[in-house]
Amino acid sequence: MMFLDCPEYLDRSGAARCGLPAAVEWRYTVNSTDGPLESAMIRCPLGHFFNGPVEALLWDKAAAGPGPEDRRSQDAVRGPDAAS
Ligand SMILES: [Zn+2]
Repeated sequence: MMFLDCPEYLDRSGAARCGLPAAVEWRYTVNSTDGPLESAMIRCPLGHFFNGPVEALLWDKAAAGPGPEDRRSQDAVRGPDAAS
């Protein structure tokens, strides 16, 4: 079984992503004008479901998340209740 980081947006600005391991349920190839396009159906534990080109499902965790300064505190504080 292969997993991708769930690309579901958790806010409107697109800064936060779900990021849970989404199981690749099906992989297939679509013929596009640029040649064969690797696609997949994925589903994360929260029920987010995606079906499309793998390229569109992949996202850069480092680029999407906060800077290295913030990452340490983010690891320590998890969930909305922990912030208060
Ligand atoms: Zn998800």
